[in-house]
Amino acid sequence: MGYKGGFVHYSQSMKRQDFNKAHGRCTKSFKDFIQYYEKTLEPEVFEKFLSSVDHEINLARAEIMSAPEGIERAKKLQDLVETEIEKEKNIKISCFKGCSACCHMEVEITNYESEILAKLVENGHVVNRDVLKEQSLRELQDKKWTKRLTLPENRCIFLGSDGACSIYENRPVMCRRHSVTTPPINCETMDSELGVRFFPRVDLLITAANEDPKLRIGPLAKMLQMELLK
Ligand code: SF4
Repeated sequence: MGYKGGFVHYSQSMKRQDFNKAHGRCTKSFKDFIQYYEKTLEPEVFEKFLSSVDHEINLARAEIMSAPEGIERAKKLQDLVETEIEKEKNIKISCFKGCSACCHMEVEITNYESEILAKLVENGHVVNRDVLKEQSLRELQDKKWTKRLTLPENRCIFLGSDGACSIYENRPVMCRRHSVTTPPINCETMDSELGVRFFPRVDLLITAANEDPKLRIGPLAKMLQMELLK
């Protein structure tokens, strides 16, 4: 049976420590999701739930790893993520084309996604190389990213002058996953209340993809610059 994208009822049980050992690269949101069920379910029900999640992660990992490493594997994950988000399209999201505050934040991508982006640039997609260089020198979670959003120096190099992503079809998984439910104006400042939609199955997919031993994760500009300089 292949990955179906749901937490199917699974009659087996799994101990928490075994789950932690098997899936040590869960996303932070996915860890929180599991902890929520740990607190709210009876222990024996929780262990069945864990077994289901383990089963789904293993299926998803096998599906993702069936694609050759590199661009094809990144595309595979992106397609699976899109399918999961599409299933939830009834949930009202306030993001719209042209609101771009989130494109002024640090975005993490994988080494496979950096190959996609580098290929676009090498094939003529114009980006500001000076901005790319400056952003690529920033450390992970550099303080510069946490200044007021919409600062010009924090614009993603792929953000077009119209406020839309210039590589929308190729945007990284982290950009696809970011969906806000609060009014767009709240995204303009760092201290407003922000509701971010959590898609458990998207985080399950990212968790499964993270288990690829050849996968590396880092800030977009740094990863892209490294790929371009190879
Ligand atoms: S890649 Fe596109 S969607 Fe992602 S941060 Fe950059 S401009 Fe925004």
